[in-house]
Amino acid sequence: MRLLHPDARIDLHAHTTASDGLLSPGDLLAHARHVGLDVLAITDHDTAAGVRAALREEARTAEVREEVQEGAAAPGSRRPLEVVSGIEVSSQLGRTEVHILGYFIDPEDPGILSYEAERRGLRRSRIERMVSRLQAAGMAIDMAGVDEQIGGDGAPGRPHVARVLVARGYAKDFRDCFRRLFSEGGPGYVPYEKIAPEAAVRLIEGAGGLPVIAHPGLDRVEDHIPALKAAGLRGLEVWHGSHEAETTARLERVAAAEGLLPTGGSDFHGTGQSEGADLGRVLCPREAFVRLCEAATRTT
Ligand code: AMP
Ligand code: ZN
Ligand code: FE
Ligand code: FE
Repeated sequence: MRLLHPDARIDLHAHTTASDGLLSPGDLLAHARHVGLDVLAITDHDTAAGVRAALREEARTAEVREEVQEGAAAPGSRRPLEVVSGIEVSSQLGRTEVHILGYFIDPEDPGILSYEAERRGLRRSRIERMVSRLQAAGMAIDMAGVDEQIGGDGAPGRPHVARVLVARGYAKDFRDCFRRLFSEGGPGYVPYEKIAPEAAVRLIEGAGGLPVIAHPGLDRVEDHIPALKAAGLRGLEVWHGSHEAETTARLERVAAAEGLLPTGGSDFHGTGQSEGADLGRVLCPREAFVRLCEAATRTT
């Protein structure tokens, strides 16, 4: 690992167009450099496709950098940026949704690749059923419009449908969409079975990664920490835009008491998006990241 300077800016939670983020992996890297990040973890919902694309992009950048050093290409404004390979696995505990972040996974791990492919299919059929139900309720939307939002072969999600509904005036904003149209009993409600959090933890571990509960303040899953720890949980996302100062302080104490690694990030989905904060607005303290890296080295 590159030596980090004391005021290194580390954001360990961001989405790309491989799931429901607005920026392509390449554009996310450029934006990360622009906002002065030193470390960025790409953590798409149920896929590592964005990580794979970003790493390919970085490999090309490295080639360009060599050319620059050899004087073959003009020096650009590129700064070193460390990309951490991540994922955010959607799981469920009864009726509660639990997101499990995985850090330092092998993005080519066969377990990850098959999970990804399976979820892409299941997510897509859920979205198709949502669109049919919304059509039956009289809304003029179709899969072609939603596909423009999904783009390519990423992991389709409800935000892709929400963007179309908001654009066509059927919902005021995301909140309105999720609350009125997508909630149980709403015209766009279609249940979607997710894996158990323990299975998510094992999937990440199997890919050589460190499993961390995402935004625990949002989902109120603290009671389940002991069971998840027994399954292999290693960390808690303490710093997140949805956490009030007192939630952050409480989670810091919980992480310390439980021997879990604290992490943090913006959960960036795109500038101006209601989900998550702006890139670099929520950071992971340097010491916490160093501990995470040490744990990853010990595990692998
Ligand atoms: P999905 O992958 O279909 O489960 O969609 C998950 C995404 O939807 C997450 O990234 C959330 O940010 C977003 N989301 C979930 N619930 C809400 C809500 N009530 N309001 C706005 N966004 C939401
Ligand atoms: Zn999302
Ligand atoms: Fe999440
Ligand atoms: Fe997220």
